[in-house]
Amino acid sequence: MAEHESLEYGKADFVLLDNVSMEEFMGNLKLRFEKGRIYTYIGEVVVSVNPYRAMNIYGRDTVEQYKGRELYERPPHLFAIADAAYKAMKRRNKDTCIVISGESGAGKTEASKYIMQYIAAITNPNQRAEVERVKNMLLKSNCVLEAFGNAKTNRNDNSSRFGKYMDINFDFKGDPIGGHISNYLLEKVPICFHLPPTSLLSLLQSSINDNADFKAVADAMKVIGFTADEIQTVYKILATILHLGNLTFGVDGDVTLIENTKLVSVIKDLLSTKEENVEKALLYRTVATGRDVIEKQHTTQEASYGRDALAKAMYERLFCWIVGRINDIIEVKNYDARVHGKNTVIGVLDIYGFEIFQNNSFEQFCINYCNEKLQQLFIQLVLKQEQEEYQREGIPWKHIDYFNNQIIVDLVEQQHKGIFSVLDEACMNVGKVTDEVFLQGLNGKLAKHAHYTSRKLSPTDKSLEFDRDFRIRHYAGDVVYSVVGFIDKNKDTLFQDFKRLLYNSSNPVLKRMWPEGKLSITEVTKRPLTAATLFKNSMISLVENLACKEPYYVRCIKPNDVKSPLLFEQERCRHQVEYLGLLENVRVRRAGFANRQTYPRFLQRYKMISEFTWPNHDMPSDKDAVKKLLKGCGFDHDVAYGKTKVFIRTPRTLFSLEEQRAEM
Ligand code: ATP
Ligand code: MG
Repeated sequence: MAEHESLEYGKADFVLLDNVSMEEFMGNLKLRFEKGRIYTYIGEVVVSVNPYRAMNIYGRDTVEQYKGRELYERPPHLFAIADAAYKAMKRRNKDTCIVISGESGAGKTEASKYIMQYIAAITNPNQRAEVERVKNMLLKSNCVLEAFGNAKTNRNDNSSRFGKYMDINFDFKGDPIGGHISNYLLEKVPICFHLPPTSLLSLLQSSINDNADFKAVADAMKVIGFTADEIQTVYKILATILHLGNLTFGVDGDVTLIENTKLVSVIKDLLSTKEENVEKALLYRTVATGRDVIEKQHTTQEASYGRDALAKAMYERLFCWIVGRINDIIEVKNYDARVHGKNTVIGVLDIYGFEIFQNNSFEQFCINYCNEKLQQLFIQLVLKQEQEEYQREGIPWKHIDYFNNQIIVDLVEQQHKGIFSVLDEACMNVGKVTDEVFLQGLNGKLAKHAHYTSRKLSPTDKSLEFDRDFRIRHYAGDVVYSVVGFIDKNKDTLFQDFKRLLYNSSNPVLKRMWPEGKLSITEVTKRPLTAATLFKNSMISLVENLACKEPYYVRCIKPNDVKSPLLFEQERCRHQVEYLGLLENVRVRRAGFANRQTYPRFLQRYKMISEFTWPNHDMPSDKDAVKKLLKGCGFDHDVAYGKTKVFIRTPRTLFSLEEQRAEM
């Protein structure tokens, strides 16, 4: 296992620790970080610690060192995982996925970029022009999404405010032929606090056209295949969002009015509509009362609320539209599996880890639910599957106790009883729709749930400071959420008047983004799906998609809060190791086996290395033959014989078998 790395750098695989304890784990992690070894394995999982400095380990020469090698031949690296996923895909026709998780600033997005870069570097040896074009588009699309979806936060200067899953499709030769991107919950907060995403909005305040960064994004969009009209419209929407932020309302008698009318004129040009339409949409709301349709004037408060909702909705819609357009362009076209064989996939998931802030709201709730789902998947795929297989095969197995978090997943997503259902129900109430009603609903339904409590249910609990607080016991720890804002954030809060305004624009690109604006107020009958329901559905389909792939994991750790390359904050890191479940992971790996194969398959591959099995054996069964073969090679101590499969404990044994086979 990465033998040529000397022990002065600690153990390259946590599986090799003398004792599986938190102390030893942390000691090894710290030692390696301090020696500049930011990657360590747990079997096939890569644990990565953000170095917060440029590392000279991603160049062409490093790519060459990892290309086509086995995991245990080289020091731990992201490239090795990328290569393992690629090999599984190419050699065994398996769809694979690489799940990258960790908290904000831990290095997920950087890791996903290095993985993409590696895959781009090792594919298309024949330099086929079409494949080069696809590769270029996949890389460029990343740059565009980052420009629109990232923001400077106090945790990370380049924080992704959306989760991203990208499928890369490969042809039978193993070259990329297209892809598909899914995005999850773009956080809307940056805009309403006038903290726009770094690369774009802040630049708009200066000069759009001659700004180099902005130009790079526009160029990337052009390369991907956005039309000039589309790019222009993107500018216009961003400018509109900025201007909306400066729009203020006042009153004259009982009339609500816009104070800076000049802005309205600018906005109407940007949106290709009439000034009076913009004004009306901002100040009035069309409501249907029985058979009548009336125009109800907003109070200044309602008008401000509407303005913010418009800015948020335009930004969110723009982002989703960009993702959709990129998908139209990069999706695999005209691939005939009958001619070319199976088209296989490597998926890369870069998704926010657990978030625990001072004040946790709907967004944190969704993000943490997403992490519960991913943990559940991890448990199912790795822990449970392993244990069940050993049981099935009759291999002695020391049971490993792990916490199964399904109960928390249910707490959130179960029909009728779960928190999302209670929230949707509260939003559907006629009349009194408030956050408090939602909290009452939770208390009513979940009073006895072991993982739920609230101030009302536990009045003496010090961590529940306010009446509006409830607490979830997540697998990663307790999180207190404030119900304030849950209802608004869950409902589709954009007045139909705005949707109509945008749909009626004479700019066809903008019009296409807002198809539902076609409906008049009396035609709007179906409630749009709530944010919670949309998020839940997207998580369920994400997990379904991942569950049928062979998974590889990258677990990212953030060593400190001050972006220092030197500081390893023990307590901070320990907490992350804990909630990423890394110790449990080591225990399962140690109890487990690196490799398993059915007896006939094993023989098929290795029978030539033993005189007892080559060319055929005369043993009563394949199992006996495999036993004889392994005993003969001296590997008997490192394997276990199951009912239908042989289990090989360490990768080194497998490696030797492969070597002997190659020498034949
Ligand atoms: P978020 O959830 O907020 O999007 P993240 O996990 O995606 O966070 P990154 O944006 O990948 O975090 O990393 C944060 C910063 O840490 C980077 O901008 C970079 O400065 C540094 N960093 C991360 N990984 C590496 C690396 N392998 N080498 C050098 N610097 C790194
Ligand atoms: Mg990120």
